[in-house]
Amino acid sequence: MENCIFCKIASGAIPSKKVYEDEEIFAFHDINPVAPIHILIIPKKHIASLVEVTTDDLFLLGKMMHVAKQLAAEFGLSDKGYRININTNADGGQTVFHLHVHLIGGKRMGWPPFPTI
Ligand code: AMP
Ligand code: ZN
Repeated sequence: MENCIFCKIASGAIPSKKVYEDEEIFAFHDINPVAPIHILIIPKKHIASLVEVTTDDLFLLGKMMHVAKQLAAEFGLSDKGYRININTNADGGQTVFHLHVHLIGGKRMGWPPFPTI
C-alpha cells in the first residue's frame, strides 16, 4: 500500500527497531513508548483497521496474538502481566491506519484507561 508508514516499515523501506519477523507478521518497538515495553505487532498485508478484517484473516489474527504473547514472554512480562490493545478508528484513538496490536508492559496500568462517562 503506497503511503502507508507501517507497510514501509514491514518492507524495510523505513527503518524500525525490529523484534520479530516471519512471512506474515512484523513486530517493532513503538517510536513513542507509553511504558517501558511498547511493541507493535502488524500484519505484512495491508489491512486498514480491525473493521476491514474478514474471515480470510482469522489465522493471521490468531498468529498476531500468539506472537504478542511470545514477545511478552521474551521481554519478561508474562508473570507481572501486560496489556494488548487494538485501537480502532477515530473513537478508538487509531492514528495509523494499518492494523496493529500494541503490546504494553513493564509498569502497573490502571483500568479504565480513560475518564468514564
Ligand atoms: P495508534 O494510535 O493505535 O494508531 O498507534 C500508532 C502507534 O504507532 C503510536 O503509538 C505511534 O507512536 C506509533 N508509531 C508511529 N510511527 C512510528 C514509527 N515510524 N515507528 C514506530 N512506531 C511508530
Ligand atoms: Zn499498510
